[in-house]
Amino acid sequence: MTEILSPPETSVLPSVRDWLARPHQLFIGGQWVDAASGQTFETRDPATGQVLTSVAHGGAEDVDRAVRAARKAFEGEWSLWTPAQRQRLLFRIGEAIYDHAEELAQLESLDNGKSAGVAQAVDITWVAELFQYYAGWATKIEGRTIPVSVPWAPGTKWHAYTLREPIGVCGAIVPWNFPLLMAAFKVPAALTTGNTVVLKPAEDTPLTALRLAEIMADAGLPDGVFNVITGYGDAGAALAAHDDVDKIAFTGSTEVGKLIVDAAKGNLKKVTLELGGKSPQVVFADADLDLAIPGTASGFLFNHGQTCTSGTRILVEDKIFDEFMQGVADAASASRLGPGLDPSTDVGPLVSQVQLDRVLGYIDQGLSDGARALTGGRRHGDTGYFVEPTVLVDVDASFSVYREEIFGPVVVATPFNAEQGPQAAANDTPYGLAASVWTTDVSKAHLTARQVKAGTVWINAHNAFDAALPFGGYKQSGWGRELGAAAIDAYTEHKSINTFLG
Ligand code: NAP
Ligand code: MG
Repeated sequence: MTEILSPPETSVLPSVRDWLARPHQLFIGGQWVDAASGQTFETRDPATGQVLTSVAHGGAEDVDRAVRAARKAFEGEWSLWTPAQRQRLLFRIGEAIYDHAEELAQLESLDNGKSAGVAQAVDITWVAELFQYYAGWATKIEGRTIPVSVPWAPGTKWHAYTLREPIGVCGAIVPWNFPLLMAAFKVPAALTTGNTVVLKPAEDTPLTALRLAEIMADAGLPDGVFNVITGYGDAGAALAAHDDVDKIAFTGSTEVGKLIVDAAKGNLKKVTLELGGKSPQVVFADADLDLAIPGTASGFLFNHGQTCTSGTRILVEDKIFDEFMQGVADAASASRLGPGLDPSTDVGPLVSQVQLDRVLGYIDQGLSDGARALTGGRRHGDTGYFVEPTVLVDVDASFSVYREEIFGPVVVATPFNAEQGPQAAANDTPYGLAASVWTTDVSKAHLTARQVKAGTVWINAHNAFDAALPFGGYKQSGWGRELGAAAIDAYTEHKSINTFLG
C-alpha cells in the first residue's frame, strides 16, 4: 500500500473553490434562506479533516416551511404542467448535470472522500442519466381501460378505467455514501410523476444537494417543486413525522429506517426504505478466477466499502477457498490509498472520524473473536480517515463481523461444500439487498440466483446497476423498490373510475 498523498490543492476547479468560499443557505420555495435559528454547521474533507465550508443548520421549523412551499407548488402551478413540460424540464436538468459533471464530482469527492474520477464516471453520470431516464417516463405514465362485470347489476354496461396520480409532497432522506446519487434515486422519479419534494441530505455530505438545487433552478424549476433542508437527524425526523408529507423515501441504516416507520404512523404516509445489507458473493469452484478474484475484491472495496450492496461476505466452494482468498487478499492489498482528488487513488478515506472508529471497532472485535486477517486490519496513516483493505478468514457465522453491516473496506470469507451448496449460508442474514454468483455453469448461476433472498442478484459481476432495473431489498433491507418502472408505481396512486352506461 502506498503512502497517503498530500491533497492536490491545485487540481480543484476555480468554480468549486469559489462555490466553497461562500456560505450556503436552505432552498425553500425557490428562495435561498437562512435557517430559522440562524445557525450553521461545518462540513469537512475526510482526507484531511479540514473544514470545506458551512451550511445552514435547518430544523423542524425550516422543514415545516419547506413542506408548505412544496404543498403550495403541488396544488398550484406545478399541477398544471403537462407531461411534456415535465419531460423537457427533467431532460434539461440532466443535460446541465452532464455540463457540470466535473465540478459536481469534485464537490462530492471533497465532501465524501470518494475518488473524483469514480464520482464523475459513476455517481454523477448516473445522476444525469436518471434525470433523463425519468424525463422519458413523464409522457408514458398510463392508466388502463378495464372490462368490468359488476355482478350484482346483471345486464348493465360500464366503462371503467384507471388514472395514475401523483402522491403529493414527498420527503427524501438520503445518506452520505452516494450523496447526490441517492437523491437522484428519488427526485427524478418523484418529479416525473408530478409530485413535489423536500430533500434532507446527510449532515456529513450536504454540498451536492445544494448545488443540484442551483442547477435545477437555472434549468427552469418552478418555485417550491424541489426544496433542500440541510441539517442533522432531527430535521429528517421532523420531515418523517410531518402530517402534511404524503410519502417518505429513505435510504440509510436499518435502525433509522425503523424510526421512519414509527414516525410515519401519524398520518400513515407512504414509505419506501432502502436499508443496509450484508450481501454474499458466492464463488463456485468452476468460476473464471481471472474475473472472479478482482471482481469480488472490487465487490467489497468499491466506494471504500461504504456501499449498501457491498459484497461483504465471500462464500467460496471449499476446494478453492485458500487459493481464491489469497488472490482476493493480494488484489486488496495492491490497492492504492489516497485522497479522492488524486487520480491514482483506488481506496479513499472513510467519511468521518465516527465511521473510522466504528469500522476499526468491528475489525478489533473480529480479531479478538478469533478471525485472522489475510491482509489489512488497521488504520492507514494518521491523517484523514483511512482504513487498510481488510480480508478476514476463520470467521464464524456468529461473529459481529459476519452478521453486521460494517460499511468500510472489510470483507469476511467462509467456505461452503458443494453437496450442501451455498444457499443456507447466503441467506443466513437478516438482510436481503443484493448478492453475486460467480460460476461458468449457466444453470448453476440461475438456480443459485433463484435461491438467494435478495432484491438484486448479479452473475459474474457485482454492483452493476441500471436506471431501468428495479432496486430494493428483501427482509430487513427495505420496503418497496426504486428505479425502473417500479419507481413510477412508488410515486403514484392508482385511481379506479367506473361509469354506469346504462
Ligand atoms: P443513517 O443514520 O440512517 O442516516 C441516513 C439519513 O437519515 C441521514 O440524512 C440522516 O441525517 C438521517 N437521519 C438520522 N436520524 C434520523 C431520524 N431519526 N429520522 C429521520 N432521518 C434521520 O445512516 P448514516 O449515519 O448515514 O450511516 C450509519 C449506518 O447506516 C452506516 O454505517 C451503514 O451501516 C448504514 N448505511 C446504509 C446505507 C444504505 O444505502 N443502505 C447508506 C448509508 C449508511 P444525518 O446524516 O444528519 O444523521
Ligand atoms: Mg464532508
